[in-house]
Amino acid sequence: MVSNHSACHNESMIDVEDALSKILSVFSTLSIRDANILEANGMVLAQDVISEINIPPLDNSAMDGYAIKHEDVNDATPKNPKTLRVVATTAAGDLPYSTLLNNESVRIMTGAPVPIGATSVIPFEDTSDNFKDKTSSDKNVLIYTNSETGKNVRKAGQDVTSGEIVLKSGTELHASHIALIASLGKAKVKVFRRPEVAILATGNEISEPGSSLNKGQIYDSNSYGIAAAVKEAGGNPSILGIAKDDFHSIEEKLNMCNKSDFVITSAGVSKGDFDIVKDVLSKNGSIEFHSVRMKPGKPLAFGMLQHNNKHIPLVGLPGNPVSALVAFEQFCRPAIRLMLGNKFSPRATIKAILDDEIRNPDGRRIYARAIVYKKNDVYHASLSGVQSSNILSAMAKANGLAICPENKSSVQPGEEVAVMMLYWPSEVF
Ligand code: AMP
Ligand code: MG
Repeated sequence: MVSNHSACHNESMIDVEDALSKILSVFSTLSIRDANILEANGMVLAQDVISEINIPPLDNSAMDGYAIKHEDVNDATPKNPKTLRVVATTAAGDLPYSTLLNNESVRIMTGAPVPIGATSVIPFEDTSDNFKDKTSSDKNVLIYTNSETGKNVRKAGQDVTSGEIVLKSGTELHASHIALIASLGKAKVKVFRRPEVAILATGNEISEPGSSLNKGQIYDSNSYGIAAAVKEAGGNPSILGIAKDDFHSIEEKLNMCNKSDFVITSAGVSKGDFDIVKDVLSKNGSIEFHSVRMKPGKPLAFGMLQHNNKHIPLVGLPGNPVSALVAFEQFCRPAIRLMLGNKFSPRATIKAILDDEIRNPDGRRIYARAIVYKKNDVYHASLSGVQSSNILSAMAKANGLAICPENKSSVQPGEEVAVMMLYWPSEVF
C-alpha cells in the first residue's frame, strides 16, 4: 500500500524542463503599442527602427581649429609655416560657409559644418591662433603642419545613414538604444506591452506588513518578493492582497484578476488540509500539474483560470518564501520575458568550485542558495546559510543558485557545480 501510494505520488511529479515547457507553451508576446522612448526603457522593440536621416546630417568638424584645403599646407612645419587668410568663423548650428577658396581658412568649432571647399581641419594647437582669445581680429593664421583629406572631419552619415535599419525588432531597449532612437528624431517606438501580473497570497496566518502582528501570524513576504521579481523581469505587478484558506475567499480574490495576463499565487498548493488553491483552480478552470521534481519548489501548481471566455495562466507557487522565489526564477520570470518579447532568456549559468556539500537524497533538482566569488581567477560557490525553504535570510545573502542535478546524490566540496546567477555584484567579479 505504502509503496503504491508513493509510486503514484512520484508519477504526478514532473521534471523541471517538462514543467517549464508546459508553462511556456501557453504564453506568447503581448500586443504591440506605441511607447514614448523613455517609457520604452526595458521593453522590447516590436518593429525595426529605420532612420529617415543621416547622422551626422552634415560633414562637421571633430576639433576646434581651422578648416582648410589640405593642398594649401602640403609642406607646412613649425619652422616653415604656411600663412592662410581667415575669412570667417563658424560654430555648431551655423550653415556651412560657402565657398572656401585657395589659401583661405575658416575658424571652426567642434560640431560646426565644414565649409564647402574645405578638405580638412587643423586643430588650434597646430596653428598660431591663441584660441583663448576669441575676439582675435587677426586676418591671417600660421599653419604649422601638413594635413590630408578628411582629417578631423566627421563625415555626414558616418554614424547612421538614411534608410538604414538601426535597431532590429526584438531588441531589448536600454539607455544607449534610447539615446540612438532619440538621435533619429523619433519620440515614440513600437514595443510589446508589459504583462499585467496579479499576485495573491493565501493563508489564514498571513498578515499585511505595516500592521501589528497577532499571535500565531506572520507577515506576507511572498507578495512583495514576487511583485519585486515581476518588476525586475519587466512585468507590471498588482498585489491583490491575502485570501483566507477557504475556497470562497480564494475564489473571490481570483475573480478580481480578469484583466490580468498572468496570475501568481503563493501557498496552499501542498498536501495539507487547507491547501485548496488547486481545488479552486480545478473548479474555475483546469490544472495541468501540481508537483515538480525540484527542491525547493516541489509543490507547484500550474493551470488555466477561466473567466468567461478568457483563459489566464496561473502559477501556484509554494508558500515557503525561498521556494516561492526559487520557483519564480525557474518558471515565472521566463514566462514574463516571453510575453515582453524576449525570446526565452535564462539567467547566465557559470561553473564554480563548490566549497560545501549539497545533498540530494530523493533525486530532485536542487537549487542551493550560494555566494559566488572569484579566487585566483576561478569561481567558487559557498552555501549562503541554512538550506531550509523557510530561511529567507540565506536567500537574501545569495547571488546564485548552485544546481545539483536529479541523477546525482550529492555534490562534494571541491567538485565543480553549475550556478545560475541571480546577481553579479561588481565587487566580487
Ligand atoms: P503552505 O504552502 O500554505 O503550506 O505554506 C508553507 C509555509 O509558507 C508555511 O509556513 C506558511 O506560513 C508560509 N507562507 C505561506 N504564505 C506566506 C507568505 N505570503 N509570506 C510568508 N510566508 C508564507
Ligand atoms: Mg498554508
